[in-house]
Amino acid sequence: MRLSQFHLATVKEVPADAEIASHKLMLRAGMIRKLAAGLYTWSPLGLRVLRKVEAVVREEMDRAGAVELLMPTIQPRELWEESGRWAKFGPQLLKIRDRKEQEFCYAPTAEEVITDYARNELKSYKQLPVNFYQIQTKFRDEIRPRFGVMRAREFLMKDAYSFHLTQESLAETYQAMYDAYARIFARLGLEFRAVQADTGAIGGNASHEFQVLADSGEDALVFSDGSDYAANIEKAEALAPAAARPAPAQELKRVDTPRVRTVEDVAAHFGVPASAVLKTLLVQGKDGLVALCLRGDHEINEVKVGKLPEVGGEPVLATEEQILAVTGTRPGFIGPVGLPAEVPVIVDRSAAVLADFVCGGNADDTHYTGANWERDGRVTRVEDIRNVVEGDPSPDGKGTLRMARGIEVGHVFQLGAKYAEALGATVQDEAGKQRVMLMGCYGVGISRIVAAAIEQRHDEAGIVWPEPMAPWRVAVCVINPKGDAAVAAAAESLYAELSARGVETVLDDRGLRPGAMFADIELIGIPHRVVVSERGLAAGTLEYRKRDEAEARAITRDELFALLD
Ligand code: ATP
Ligand code: MG
Ligand code: MG
Ligand code: MG
Repeated sequence: MRLSQFHLATVKEVPADAEIASHKLMLRAGMIRKLAAGLYTWSPLGLRVLRKVEAVVREEMDRAGAVELLMPTIQPRELWEESGRWAKFGPQLLKIRDRKEQEFCYAPTAEEVITDYARNELKSYKQLPVNFYQIQTKFRDEIRPRFGVMRAREFLMKDAYSFHLTQESLAETYQAMYDAYARIFARLGLEFRAVQADTGAIGGNASHEFQVLADSGEDALVFSDGSDYAANIEKAEALAPAAARPAPAQELKRVDTPRVRTVEDVAAHFGVPASAVLKTLLVQGKDGLVALCLRGDHEINEVKVGKLPEVGGEPVLATEEQILAVTGTRPGFIGPVGLPAEVPVIVDRSAAVLADFVCGGNADDTHYTGANWERDGRVTRVEDIRNVVEGDPSPDGKGTLRMARGIEVGHVFQLGAKYAEALGATVQDEAGKQRVMLMGCYGVGISRIVAAAIEQRHDEAGIVWPEPMAPWRVAVCVINPKGDAAVAAAAESLYAELSARGVETVLDDRGLRPGAMFADIELIGIPHRVVVSERGLAAGTLEYRKRDEAEARAITRDELFALLD
C-alpha cells in the first residue's frame, strides 16, 4: 500500500470523553470515528487491524473443528418468547418493529437463532457433536457505552455454539474451545489470563472468561500466588465464606429527621457538605449485598439494583418489583424503607474520604449518621468492598490471593440443556429415542480485542502493535520523494522487494517532513520502520528502527530482509 493513495487521517486533538489510552489512540490514529453513542465507523486503517484479529480467530476456530455459518442480525420476537428471554433480557435488547408491526430484536447474541437452526438441521446423534460459529455484528443497548469500541453498542463478535448428546462430549468441545482461545490470545501477543466465571442461574463450574490484563480493565480478577486458581471477582465472591464480609467500622446512629427529603435537606439538617450525604446504599438483600444507588436525590424510584459487584456505574430505573426481587423488600421513601432495622452499610462512592457519613434509613423521616465501612483497619470505598480481598487464603488452600484488573475479551460457557430444552431441540439417540441436546457457547469480542491490545501496548508516541495485529509490518519512509529521484527509486525498489517477499509493507510516499512522517508511523504503531534517504543511499544503508526500541540503526538491505524473515 502507498500511503499517498490511502486514507490515513491522524489527528492531534481528541474529545474530552476519550478517557483511556486505547480510546484516545484509536481516535488520534484515525482508526475509528464516532457516529453516535457506542456506534463507530472503522476507517480503512482501523479495519485492517480488525480484519487481522478476525483472521486469527477464524483460523483457530477452523483448526479446532468449528464450522462457520452466518445468521441474521435481526431476530424475530417469537423465538425469544420461546426461550423466555424477550421479557427477561432487559433494556440491552434493542427491539424493532417492521411495517407489518411484527416485532424483532437486533441480535445481542444468538442462542435462540442457532438453537432454532439446530432443531431443524440436526436429527440424529450421528450429526453430533457439531460446533457452529459466526463472525457477526451484535448490538447491545449498553447503559453506559464508553471507551470507544471497548464497550460499544454495536460491535463485532465471534460467537460459537456447540451441540452434544452427552456431557462428556460437551466437556470435550469446551476444552477444545478453551485451548483455541488460549492460542488466539497468545498468537495475538496479548498478556491474558483465563479465569473461572460465575455461571449464575445455570449452575455448574463450567464457565471461563479470557481476560486481557490491564489496569484500566473494568473487571476485577483474583489469582492465587501459590496455584493455578484464577477467578473473576464475582466467582471468587460467590465462593467466599460469608464470614469474610467486612463489618461496619462504627455503629450507625439513628436520627429522626422529619421532612428531610433531598440530599440538600440532609446536608443542611446535619450541617455537613452534600458530599457527606450518601447516595449509594448498600443493603443486605436476600441474595447478599445489594446496592441501591440513588440518582442525585433521595428518590428511590431511580436506582440500580443488582448483586454486588455487578452494580456500579450509572443508576438505572428499576421497578418496585425488581427491587423486591433482589432485596426481598419493597422500596419506600428514602433508601430501602421497610428493610430489616439494621441497614448495614452506606457509602458514598463519590467521596474521597469516608467517615461519618449521613445516610438514608429504613423508615420515613429517619437517617443514620456515622456510616462507613472498614476492614482490617482500612476504610474502603464502595468499589472495593469485597468478601474477598488481597491476601486472603486461596480457596484451594494453596497460596494467598492477589488481585488484578482485566478486560473480558472472550467467554466460554457450558449452557447444558437450557436453550435446547426451551426450544425443543432434540435428536434421535442410538436407541431411537428423542433426546434434548446439550449446548456450549463461546464468544470472542473481536472489536474489543483491538482496543484491549492498545490498552496493553502503547507508549508516549502511540500504539505499539503486536506484529500479528499491525496494519502493516513494515513502513518504508521516503525522505523527499518528489525532490530526489534516486531516493524515490530506491524506496520503490525496496517496497517492491519486500512485497514480493510477502512482507506486508506500506510505502510512506506522502512527501511529509521527516518529523511529521515518523510521528504518524509511530502513532499508528507499525512494528518496523525503514527510512530511505540521500545520506543512507550514499552510505549503502537504510535507517532501521523497531517500534519498541529506543534507537534507530543503520543496516543493509540484506540485513533487513534477514530480520523480517
Ligand atoms: P461485559 O461483561 O464486558 O459486558 P459480557 O459478559 O456481557 O461482556 P458476553 O455476553 O460474554 O459479554 O459476550 C462475549 C464477548 O463479547 C465478551 O467477552 C466481550 O469480549 C464482547 N463484548 C460484550 N459486550 C461488548 C460491548 N458492549 N462492546 C464490545 N465488546 C463486547
Ligand atoms: Mg455485558
Ligand atoms: Mg462479562
Ligand atoms: Mg461474558
